[in-house]
Amino acid sequence: MAILDPAVADPARAEAHDAADPLRAFRDRFAVRDSDLVYLDGNSLGRLPKATAERLRTVVEDEWGGELIRAWDHWLDLPVRVGDRLATAVLGARAGEVVVSDSTTVNFYKLALAALDARPGRRAIVTDRANFPTDRYVLEGLARARGLEIRWIDPDPVDGPEPRDVETVLDDDVALVTLSLVNYRSAAIADLPAISSLARAAGALTLWDLSHAAGAVEVNLDAGGADLAVGCTYKYLNAGPGSPAFLYVRSALQGELRNPIQGWFGQNDQFAMGPAYEPVPGIAAWLTGTPTVPALAAVEEGVRVVEEAGIGAIRAKAAALTAYAVELHDAWLEPLGFGLGSPRDPVRRGAHVAIRRVDARHLSAALLEQRVITDFREPDSIRLGLSPLTTSYREVRTGMSRLRDLAAR
Ligand SMILES: *Cc1c(COP(=O)(O)O)cnc(C)c1O
Repeated sequence: MAILDPAVADPARAEAHDAADPLRAFRDRFAVRDSDLVYLDGNSLGRLPKATAERLRTVVEDEWGGELIRAWDHWLDLPVRVGDRLATAVLGARAGEVVVSDSTTVNFYKLALAALDARPGRRAIVTDRANFPTDRYVLEGLARARGLEIRWIDPDPVDGPEPRDVETVLDDDVALVTLSLVNYRSAAIADLPAISSLARAAGALTLWDLSHAAGAVEVNLDAGGADLAVGCTYKYLNAGPGSPAFLYVRSALQGELRNPIQGWFGQNDQFAMGPAYEPVPGIAAWLTGTPTVPALAAVEEGVRVVEEAGIGAIRAKAAALTAYAVELHDAWLEPLGFGLGSPRDPVRRGAHVAIRRVDARHLSAALLEQRVITDFREPDSIRLGLSPLTTSYREVRTGMSRLRDLAAR
């Protein structure tokens, strides 16, 4: 039990945090139509950057409406151009290692299958039973199709997975280790460098899902020794519903791994329409079919805002916002029977916080009626997504106080 400072719940505390927030001006860069709505779900769908609305108008009216097919001259390189920006500004990677295309699910399939093909003879995949559902489902399908074994680890639901959870199931039969960097439920951050190095020592490749990490915490794919990664852009990168995902392939592996979806956008000399597939050199080989141009333009704008704010400042605010939510949880909610479903140490936590009580489903629905948007996650968690560029301390306090009032009834 934490030691409580009685001033924690004072509204002046939230005002002071907001006044001292170096990122506070960024909230005005987003469309906030209803300033009374408490939006604590930016980890499911980030808010709309104002620049994106303007950019989409240009793409639709001027480029599509005016340039028509001639616009492909500058549309064609969007997936790689936006990937380069994402690589250097957000993911700790180099230009030429990231491309934006397809959905996270499809990219996960491409990279997982490519990794399995690159380790022929090895028959096991290691993942976490608490990993995001789409990743687990894709792996189940691949394991069935290839006759492989999935070695499920069952880490601590709040703090896991830890390197030792992975270490105990690794051997020379493991082809692939795949985990989320930030767990979608608990927000626990996995130790990417330690786990990647354990996997490499065992001869396995690593595939990291960064969906709840990109734009929320610092990611160091190159320095951390990750082999492969995927992630979505509509959460903390604020690129809009269904915006295309990214994928990363460490440059040293690009000659070795092959995209299993051999589409014409990954083809060398695409418009020669040649008789046989021959992949283009570099990261563009991981493209499949025609990119969704307006949505890619929205990714570019979303990444631009994150780049301008700086991922270091964003990460610092994520730690401070979630710490404030944890303090309010301890002061107001723990006495009402709640428990924290996220790590207490901010270094080990992404930009959301899970708080647990058996009636979480009902409470999350009741909060919605009180104009506080959160989400419920089975079996007993309310997830508060505190997207650093758009969430104020005041908003966190208001949301938590409404939850306290509901829970005390
Ligand atoms: C949100 C999320 C996804 C989403 O995948 P889609 O293909 O965009 O639906 C995948 N993985 C994780 C960890 C997520 O949080």
